[in-house]
Amino acid sequence: MARVLVLGAGLTGGACAALLRGAVCGRVVVWDKARGAGGRMSTSRSARGAACSADLGAQYVSPRAGRGSFFDELLSHGILKPLTAPIEGMVEKEDSCNYMAPQGISAVVKYYLKQSGADVFYEYHVTHISLRDGKWEISRKTGPPEFFDVVILTIPVPQILQLQGDIVNIINERQKQQLEATNYSSRYALGLFYEAGVCIDVPWAAKYITDNPCIRFISIDNKKRNIESPEIGPSVVVHTTVTFGSEHLDSDPAEVQQLILSHLESIMPSLPKPASVKCQKWRYSQVTKSVPNCPGHMILHTQPLLICGGDGFTCSNFDGCIDSAMSLAEAVKSHL
Ligand SMILES: Cc1cc2nc3c(=O)[nH]c(=O)nc-3n(C[C@H](O)[C@H](O)[C@H](O)COP(=O)(O)OP(=O)(O)OC[C@H]3O[C@@H](n4cnc5c(N)ncnc54)[C@H](O)[C@@H]3O)c2cc1C
Repeated sequence: MARVLVLGAGLTGGACAALLRGAVCGRVVVWDKARGAGGRMSTSRSARGAACSADLGAQYVSPRAGRGSFFDELLSHGILKPLTAPIEGMVEKEDSCNYMAPQGISAVVKYYLKQSGADVFYEYHVTHISLRDGKWEISRKTGPPEFFDVVILTIPVPQILQLQGDIVNIINERQKQQLEATNYSSRYALGLFYEAGVCIDVPWAAKYITDNPCIRFISIDNKKRNIESPEIGPSVVVHTTVTFGSEHLDSDPAEVQQLILSHLESIMPSLPKPASVKCQKWRYSQVTKSVPNCPGHMILHTQPLLICGGDGFTCSNFDGCIDSAMSLAEAVKSHL
């Protein structure tokens, strides 16, 4: 009975675990250091009421036409719906449509995790990967190490390179160079949560901003998701520019939050004061340069199998993650 670990409960990890369902004679386990599912497809909930929520990472997905049953399931279950609310400044692509998630974008990842039947553990922060008696010994920040026959890494590439243990020597020089060649942009996201009854009166649901040094995108998130109910407070998401994100990567988070809020006030002077604000730093936001010559996945070790994938091996969108998940699952199945 093989014990398979998928590291990362983001879209790649969730989809990969779902694709492995029934293919593994044994158990598939998913670990993530965060407190919930989604990774960069996360949905934050207001402390005052879970119904008021905001997508702090991915906003909408635009799968290529003919993505197939894997995507159609999300539509038939109502996890995704066509994005019909007006988005100012959005570049429409000819070969794809845009979809939003009415319950929040993390619902996409949660759907695949549920389909996988895997055991999912949160607040499991992996620090070391080493070889012990033909198995992978996986150590985390708290708790005893555990052993696995196959390990699938779906975490951002720079975080793979931060792992300690035998993995440091297992990654050969050529692979290290390839992994080090990747690049990610950095951004901040703010989630502003309001009390029920507050009205945000703008003619758009979301808007790309082109003339502000700090803010790139604003979404009235409930409106983007067609949720306009008097019982649920509205929520606003703000994404910063990549330049602002890089320049303030190691600044005091409270100061960064204040700075973004002051820019927001200059763009939307009549925006009411929120009941609460969440500031999220995306150090590894979107891939600007993927791992060269390695589409979908990279095998780091064969016996036992250690393999990595994620959007770092494709591109930062729904298709990129699903393509990597499919490529990982195929490689694992043929290995097993
Ligand atoms: C601000 C922003 C806006 C975006 N907008 C869009 C959009 O509109 N449309 C779109 O399609 N895409 C968008 N993207 C990109 C999209 O969100 C990503 O491509 C996708 O979510 C990546 O999924 P993943 O599973 O590969 O990685 P992740 O989502 O990063 O998942 C990796 C998981 O691994 C966990 N992890 C990392 N290290 C460890 C460790 N040591 N131990 C345990 N767990 C660990 C993390 O907690 C995380 O949950 C956006 C991203 C950001 C940040």
